[in-house]
Amino acid sequence: MRLVVDLNRCQGFAQCVFLAPDVFSLHGEEALLFSPRFDEAQRDRVEKAAAACPVQAILVDYSDEPTKRVEPHVG
Ligand code: SF4
Repeated sequence: MRLVVDLNRCQGFAQCVFLAPDVFSLHGEEALLFSPRFDEAQRDRVEKAAAACPVQAILVDYSDEPTKRVEPHVG
């Protein structure tokens, strides 16, 4: 899982820092720091942070997860 934050959008509201403090932090008034890679244990918090961002600056990328096999529908 990877995380991308559009820092042009980010306004430093810090909701993400509050919801996932192990992944996001604020440096000074507005400079957001974040870990682009996070582990499964942080997934729920990161998703809540992305949902709570008032300017939708947080994107979560799951493309590095193994693809789930889709069983064919029979009948
Ligand atoms: S919640 Fe959104 S706007 Fe606020 S600091 Fe986090 S990324 Fe930036």
